[in-house]
Amino acid sequence: MIDVIIVGGGPAGVGAAEALSKLGLSVAIVDNSPFGGGVPIELSCKGESECTKCHVCMPRDAAERMRSEGAIDAYPMAKVRSVNIIDNNIEMELEIAPRYVRVNKCIDCGKCVAVCPIEGAIIAPPHGAMTRVPYIAKELCAHFTSKKCNLCSDACPTDAIKYRERPRKTKLAARAVILATGQEPVDPSGSLHYGYGVFPNVITSLEAERITSRYGELKRPSDGKRPEKVALIQCAGSRTTKGGVEYCSKFCCKYGIRIARALFDRNPEMNISFIYMDLRTFEPRSEAIKWARRKKNVAISQGVPGYIQGAEGGNLVVRRTSPFDGAIEDEEFELVILNIGGRPRPETKVIAEHFSLSLDEHGFISRGDPNRGIFVAGSCKAPMDIEESYADGKAAAISIISALGVK
Ligand SMILES: Cc1cc2nc3c(=O)[nH]c(=O)nc-3n(C[C@H](O)[C@H](O)[C@H](O)COP(=O)(O)OP(=O)(O)OC[C@H]3O[C@@H](n4cnc5c(N)ncnc54)[C@H](O)[C@@H]3O)c2cc1C
Repeated sequence: MIDVIIVGGGPAGVGAAEALSKLGLSVAIVDNSPFGGGVPIELSCKGESECTKCHVCMPRDAAERMRSEGAIDAYPMAKVRSVNIIDNNIEMELEIAPRYVRVNKCIDCGKCVAVCPIEGAIIAPPHGAMTRVPYIAKELCAHFTSKKCNLCSDACPTDAIKYRERPRKTKLAARAVILATGQEPVDPSGSLHYGYGVFPNVITSLEAERITSRYGELKRPSDGKRPEKVALIQCAGSRTTKGGVEYCSKFCCKYGIRIARALFDRNPEMNISFIYMDLRTFEPRSEAIKWARRKKNVAISQGVPGYIQGAEGGNLVVRRTSPFDGAIEDEEFELVILNIGGRPRPETKVIAEHFSLSLDEHGFISRGDPNRGIFVAGSCKAPMDIEESYADGKAAAISIISALGVK
């Protein structure tokens, strides 16, 4: 029997696993994604010239350390199918989806990824992944879509590619469990006045990160042009009763100001307007804000945009009302970035039901059930940033240690 099973391998799960394994407890991490790592696995470092403490590297470095030390048992692509708890013995049945690359044969040589002609069809493990084994995305891979390609299989020196892999089931048992299933980015399409999904040059902060990590700089989706005038709109899909979430996600002000900095570091000619409802960086002496206030081509201004309209050449006009004198201002930008918050993932409800826990009004699992060995950590519990989620994972580990009476 394992000591603790952690469901969710994001910052909270990694923080918990690190604390537990350092104390000599055996830990398994179950994650339903190909590589685990949570949201940060998709994010990029915001400190090109110097560290801005965005904390994206924190859980990723910790996961790398644990993986290389063999400190955890990892179950990526695994879904919890059933749970049975009898006298603090927690039994779980998992279903593990096929990754079409055999874990026990792959030597991480990268040859399969190098020969693949289709972007995203076979994915190499990113830094901070739970496993060093690539993953084949069946919906893109030409072996599955046209039955004509075997390039990755031919290139593999250890015969690790297995197109016929099937889902398999396995059982785990532990004395305690930590639920750390996290959150997903808010979809801003519900905020119709922002024109997301209508105007190609209105993108989310996550998309801005993906474009920047792919091309090394920000480009407009409509024409690949390098934008010189960019609006970064805070609270997109957050703190609203219409088509979004009602609460503050806590990380987006801190994060948005760091995105502005990372964009500016890549292109110092860029003019950036950071438009906020109110600043909630939760950092009284924020270096990032001091930095933004010093830069003459970074404007920080308050005002909730009323709507965004298309203009000539793919540009966008942002209309907003000044909170001070009610004046209406229109300003044209080449690109608009909507800085989105987070919301509980839909699977959170399923996980809560497996463990007979209830959700709060927003869909968070606000409380576990320590008497039955069930603990909750990170942003599936309440809005949290990376640093807080990682620390909350460690706090859950400490609670387990005292509950299990480990000395
Ligand atoms: C666009 C965006 C940008 C952000 N930028 C920053 C930033 O720069 N700095 C910062 O501090 N914070 C940032 N955040 C917030 C940060 O991502 C979160 O605070 C952090 O990821 C929370 O960690 P977590 O472990 O609670 O959850 P997550 O990171 O969401 O990880 C949860 C993990 O659980 C897995 N999982 C979910 N459900 C199940 C299930 N049923 N079974 C098995 N596994 C499951 C998921 O696959 C995932 O790997 C950003 C968030 C977003 C959306």
